[in-house]
Amino acid sequence: MRKRRIEQLQRRLERREAEIRDNLRSKEEEYREVSHETHAEVMDEAQAQSDTFTRDVMQVHEDRQLTGIQAALQRIREDRYGLCVACGGRIDEGRLTARPEAAFCIECERRNEKR
Ligand SMILES: [Zn+2]
Repeated sequence: MRKRRIEQLQRRLERREAEIRDNLRSKEEEYREVSHETHAEVMDEAQAQSDTFTRDVMQVHEDRQLTGIQAALQRIREDRYGLCVACGGRIDEGRLTARPEAAFCIECERRNEKR
């Protein structure tokens, strides 16, 4: 893949990473405010744990995306970007345009889904 093309995708990844970080941060703040109001009186251990659980479930999707994006940026730095992490084959450029954080080629992705 051309260097300039990779740089474009890198910028997109970095923007998306910043967005998710902002998002997670504001959710965290929101959570703290709500939790402060609701639990001023009943703040026992079990309640605190179940709140943490709910919050984790909400964030798990974005966390996962963030991890994928960071891994992709890492691969750009290591000059392995665009290569499937499973088989080492080239990932289709159209696929990377649609999902710059894609780590697998289409064949491996399909195989993963079947498992
Ligand atoms: Zn592959």
